[in-house]
Amino acid sequence: MSGTDLKSPEQLSVNWHQRALDLRPDGRALIDGRRVDAVSGDTFACHSPVDGRLLTQVARGQAADIDAAVRSARAAFEDGRWSKQPPAARKRALQRFAGLILAAQEELALLETLDMGKPIQYSLAVDVPAAARCIAWYGEAIDKLYDEVAPTPATALALITREPMGVVGAIVPWNYPMIMAAWKLGPALAAGNSVVLKPSEKSPLTALRLAELALQAGIPEGVFNVVPGYGHEAGEALALHMDVDAIGFTGSTRVGRRMLGYAGESNLKRVFNELGGKSAFVVFEDHEDLDQAARAVAGAMFFNQGESCNAPSRLLVQDSIADAVIDAVVGQTPRYQPGDPLAPQTTMGALVDEGQLQTVLRYIEAGRSEGANCLIGGARARVASGGYYVEPTVFDGVRNDMTIAREEIFGPVLSVIRFKDEAEAIALANDSSYGLQASVWSSHIDRAHRVARALKAGTVHVNQYDEDDITVPFGGVKQSGNGRDKSLHAFDKYTELKTTWIRLSV
Ligand code: NAD
Repeated sequence: MSGTDLKSPEQLSVNWHQRALDLRPDGRALIDGRRVDAVSGDTFACHSPVDGRLLTQVARGQAADIDAAVRSARAAFEDGRWSKQPPAARKRALQRFAGLILAAQEELALLETLDMGKPIQYSLAVDVPAAARCIAWYGEAIDKLYDEVAPTPATALALITREPMGVVGAIVPWNYPMIMAAWKLGPALAAGNSVVLKPSEKSPLTALRLAELALQAGIPEGVFNVVPGYGHEAGEALALHMDVDAIGFTGSTRVGRRMLGYAGESNLKRVFNELGGKSAFVVFEDHEDLDQAARAVAGAMFFNQGESCNAPSRLLVQDSIADAVIDAVVGQTPRYQPGDPLAPQTTMGALVDEGQLQTVLRYIEAGRSEGANCLIGGARARVASGGYYVEPTVFDGVRNDMTIAREEIFGPVLSVIRFKDEAEAIALANDSSYGLQASVWSSHIDRAHRVARALKAGTVHVNQYDEDDITVPFGGVKQSGNGRDKSLHAFDKYTELKTTWIRLSV
């Protein structure tokens, strides 16, 4: 996930403020092909972090709503209206779905920006196209996957087939609402499952709109349901439901632990956790272009307001070059000053809500009080807007045992830690409960390989940080989780292997 420029001059001239005023988001759940209120009739208010405005009331889904959605999903699965369609038919529907996402790109981008605060240029250039590509890619893949015949003796035939699991529950966070939903929906739907999606209560609007577009694309009623609501209500009910076969969860490590507990307390459903990170970005003195490294770490750290699971929030830099690299990183911060998310050139938007703002400010305070040196930033910005903005912040003099080096902040705060040699760099990088992503910067091929091998992370980048493609797996080790989103490997999460033995007369 990384930033690119606006795609077209027309989009520069859209009056996003006017469009925002005209928008009337529908906050009702989508269950069994219909927009419905919560069974209780309860709603919660959905405010925009851009300026605090009320966007809409959203259905407050609870156990009864989750149950209705799971029953609808189960009925759809069992009667085969989707699960038994030929793969090529599912492919065509998913491709129509992806096409409709692209056709609605401006509406979806605006909803995403208003709902969670990211700059409109990135909603348009990154989030919408990535979600559409993900859905289209899994659609395209599904009629090209073959099953297996085992090399058994001639007296029998053993078929190893991949079967859809049944009802998949998807529980996703607010930092990339559409992309995270698409990473679950693409492989789960392509494989023939039915899905109940629980978006974050902080960003439910695009998920609800995606479900309408899926229906319009011909994905049958009941196959893709969306129940908005709070984690401890709708989320918990979904994860505890006895008729859900698997949970694809993306979110915090704290809630990921609960997911495992819910499975244990209920039907031992499969749980695939994609959790937090505290990724190390390691720069050695032998890297030939230190400015390039500084641009890369600032770009990846401050993109999406620092609200990225894979943000390189620990910059490990060798003593001899530390001052030069830090100066260059600080020199990048003017490029990421918070601005109006609806203005087309803004590169840093609003944090998702007041709670996240306070969390980030508390971490900044912890950094100062534990003795780190705040070189730039460290304060709230754009207070008069009514939204929640924080300056890009860089701390020097961080030790790896400080709170800001150990805990995921999920805001625009970079911690710089100095090291003397390769062994210390590897030890510091791996001294974390997380293991999502890491990066090594060295112009020596031996060192780059050696360190890349030694880093404990699901993804390691060498001399760059922002390469990303639907074709590669994404996920972590240690307390960053166990699942892999993206690539053909994601089918492992949403299919079961079945062995069928057939006796042969020879
Ligand atoms: P969160 O864990 O608070 O919430 C995630 C989802 O879980 C939300 O839909 C929420 O409503 C739900 N939830 C919360 N409590 C629940 C409970 N008790 N039972 C069931 N569901 C519950 O995380 P967040 O604040 O929304 O997102 C930020 C986190 O997500 C960060 O830690 C970030 O690193 C992580 N993340 C990871 C990846 C990845 O691919 N590894 C990608 C994006 C974000």
